[in-house]
Amino acid sequence: MVIQLPMATKDLTFQVTHNENAKSAQEREEIFANPGFGKYFTDHMVDICWSEHGGWHRPRVQPYGPIALDPAAAVLHYAQEVFEGLKAYRHEDGSIWTFRPEANARRMQRSARRLALPELPTEYFVESLRQLIAADGDWVPGGGESSLYLRPFMFAKEAFLGVRPAAKVNYYVIASPAGAYFSGGVAPVSIWLSTDYSRAGRGGTGAAKTGGNYASSLVAQQEAYAHDCAQVLFLDSEESKYLEELGGMNIVLVHRDGTLITPESPSILEGITLDSVLQLARDRGLATEMRRVSIDEWRDGFNAGDITEVFACGTAAVITPISQLKTADYTIGSADAPAGELTMSLRQELTDIQYGRKPDPHDWMVRLDG
Ligand SMILES: *Cc1c(COP(=O)(O)O)cnc(C)c1O
Repeated sequence: MVIQLPMATKDLTFQVTHNENAKSAQEREEIFANPGFGKYFTDHMVDICWSEHGGWHRPRVQPYGPIALDPAAAVLHYAQEVFEGLKAYRHEDGSIWTFRPEANARRMQRSARRLALPELPTEYFVESLRQLIAADGDWVPGGGESSLYLRPFMFAKEAFLGVRPAAKVNYYVIASPAGAYFSGGVAPVSIWLSTDYSRAGRGGTGAAKTGGNYASSLVAQQEAYAHDCAQVLFLDSEESKYLEELGGMNIVLVHRDGTLITPESPSILEGITLDSVLQLARDRGLATEMRRVSIDEWRDGFNAGDITEVFACGTAAVITPISQLKTADYTIGSADAPAGELTMSLRQELTDIQYGRKPDPHDWMVRLDG
């Protein structure tokens, strides 16, 4: 009989089962030629169990494949789930790195607390990424702005239809090769202002990275597509007056004096890309402000020539310039507006650090291989 030791033992020994049907180098190259986003997955995945009595146990790397779930698994009914997103980058010398993984680990712990899920210790989180890269390192593409997108997630697996936090939870990591988000060069996007729907409300789950926030944003996203917009911008749920964020990215306004202004709200997801971009701006001597920002401030500031650039930021696309905001009543900016200069230079600086082309003054990069 195998006795499962609880988390307190800090036993990080992963049991590894290799995938007998792993893709060939040629099949991988074919995927790398046109990976899209989130369409293809590597040969392995990480799986760690948690139970109320046993804590975290049975860390494994196993062949990528379907997860068997009881139809009564709580996540399917009550959405007790959290996730993360970060990337593995291949540097010029072949080594594999990721960006600020401890920040993702801590955010996942905060998300888990909000969803009454167990907290995965930071060292388990980082080790789980290392373990997946040890098995699937060949899946990290090289060149350009390609990367391997890492998706850790955790959900309530217990089969029980009563409403309470699950006593059985699993944590997984899967990975998906990603090409340059903008294949034809970074293109500014139009975004749609949602006035009928909110992303999150006071005391809700807006600050947690959980699927439910995305589920409730989809209908607003459909509205954006119907208006030829790539993304939707949400306002605060109480007054419909203050900027919150896009469906899955934070937003930053740039003042003509170089000040970066980003909305502050308890229902915004704290982006690690946002935090990093603000830090790089401060390193340049620019001011950053995190405060309430009204939609009128943006419109009036744009018309007066004070707000000169706007961009969205998040791990997947790094920084996306925003050319215009469309609303039911008016438009700010124009679809053919070029990407802002500061926007693009901050984007360049951040990606240079991530891809190892420039020094990393804040020790953000963590090596995953070797
Ligand atoms: C993940 C996410 C972001 C961006 O966070 P990063 O850490 O920069 O990737 C922003 N908003 C929402 C709602 C998110 O889920």
